[in-house]
Amino acid sequence: MNKDTFKNPYYLVTAILFVVAFLSFLLFTVIRYEKVIEKDMFKNATSDVLQITEHKALFIKEILKDSRSYIDDIKKDEKLREELERNIKNLITDNIKYAYILYKDKNNVFRFLVDASPESEKSLLDQKFDVSSPEWFELYTKKEPIIIKHAFLQKLSISYLVPILHGEKVELVLAIDFSIKKIQEISRILAMMKMGIALILILMSVSLGALIFQLFRYRAIKKSSYTDRLTNVFNRNYLQDIESKINLNEYILGVLDIDQFKKINDTYGHNVGDTILKEVGSILLNTIRVDEDIAIRYGGEEFVILIKRKSEDSEISYHVIERIFNNIRNHKMFINTEDYIQITVSIGINKNPGKYKNFSEAFKSADSALYEAKNSGRDKIKISEDYLGIEDSSADNRST
Ligand code: GH3
Ligand code: MG
Ligand code: MG
Repeated sequence: MNKDTFKNPYYLVTAILFVVAFLSFLLFTVIRYEKVIEKDMFKNATSDVLQITEHKALFIKEILKDSRSYIDDIKKDEKLREELERNIKNLITDNIKYAYILYKDKNNVFRFLVDASPESEKSLLDQKFDVSSPEWFELYTKKEPIIIKHAFLQKLSISYLVPILHGEKVELVLAIDFSIKKIQEISRILAMMKMGIALILILMSVSLGALIFQLFRYRAIKKSSYTDRLTNVFNRNYLQDIESKINLNEYILGVLDIDQFKKINDTYGHNVGDTILKEVGSILLNTIRVDEDIAIRYGGEEFVILIKRKSEDSEISYHVIERIFNNIRNHKMFINTEDYIQITVSIGINKNPGKYKNFSEAFKSADSALYEAKNSGRDKIKISEDYLGIEDSSADNRST
């Protein structure tokens, strides 16, 4: 890791992405773990209460064993009611607040038979009991005890309903209401953890978004600082940045210069000159493979072209330069809506820039080939083959 590691925003994005992934995993684990803990705690904290209550239900059944109708007998017999109340009253503890026996009347309304609540809250015989969930009715078909959890804001309270069967029929319901503190605590801690992680996650995601946005902006700015505004090809800044990094063995190097450009400016004006430069830029970009080859405005009406070579053989790359030469030559450059002119260029090529010490030396060789092209009448491609001198290939270049 060098200091560029920290400067490069991609590393930062990757790092934040990792943190976000890790936090998401953590959040997921807490959510999963929370369920398990809650379930376990719930089981531990309630099993005693549930067992005692079920025992009590059996005991009540024992008391009523001679009765032909539990409901009728309890309603009629005050002494029996008192005995039952005494019995279920000892279920009441700090946690178990209420214990009561209910029945369901013909209209499916639940009513009190016995209530062991404190005097001030005690319900009367036959007083209506509004049930909070349809599970109460399921008791009559399932014939099994049911746990109903009420999740209030501050506390978790539980109703435990035990059916008391007379023969096959559910006749009474012994119900207790109790609350568990431990679960609340755990849930609160877990909820806080979840919120904390979620908050960090949101913050991280927002920073990630901002960073990615900045990254795109940075790239856009960088790209525009590398682009020549008039011709849309790369500018000299770009060349300066890549010339030490680029592997010249992978390219052939061309230097292109528009012929007699000064005359064009002098004859048709600077604006027409600009239009022609623009056209040359777009012909360059349309002829090269933009993701492999590189076109650079070196200055004025001079361009550097780096064409990627696929192998030792530079012929295919050479043909790309030939196509550029011909495409410019054959292009009608409109100077107004009706009239056009045609221009020519001279190109010097260095087929083996990799053999040179650096870009600058390789460029000199291509530039000297360009000089030869100009000197021998312009409108030509000249190749400087290593140090072997200048080769003329202009005779076959013209496709017209
Ligand atoms: P040669 O065939 O030898 O290359 O002749 P030339 O006239 O093309 O070369 P010279 O170097 O004498 O002139 C180049 C001209 O290009 C001079 C300059 O005004 C013009 N030029 C350079 N940059 C721009 C530009 O951005 N816009 C316009 N319109 N002209 C430019
Ligand atoms: Mg010129
Ligand atoms: Mg020039």
